Amino acid sequence: MTITAYAECHACHTRIVWAVTSDGKRLPPVNWGPDPTGTVAVQHTAGGTWLGRVLGQGDTPPIFPEKRFRWHRETCQAGTGR
Ligand SMILES: [Zn+2]
Repeated sequence: MTITAYAECHACHTRIVWAVTSDGKRLPPVNWGPDPTGTVAVQHTAGGTWLGRVLGQGDTPPIFPEKRFRWHRETCQAGTGR
């Protein structure tokens, strides 16, 4: 199954990215651009997938080519995040 990674937030029309976890689960949308305050490590793989890893307490910080991304719900102008 191909997941279209890029989308637009239905509430605020900002570009968002749907990343998936290494075991294929879809994460909540993140903002399109990396953000140093983000709590998700995301990398764009050679196969075109955006692979995401939620950073909890004590988890390994992002390792290149991972970058920090923020959940879109934290910055959504419309406040809903979806
Ligand atoms: Zn939004």
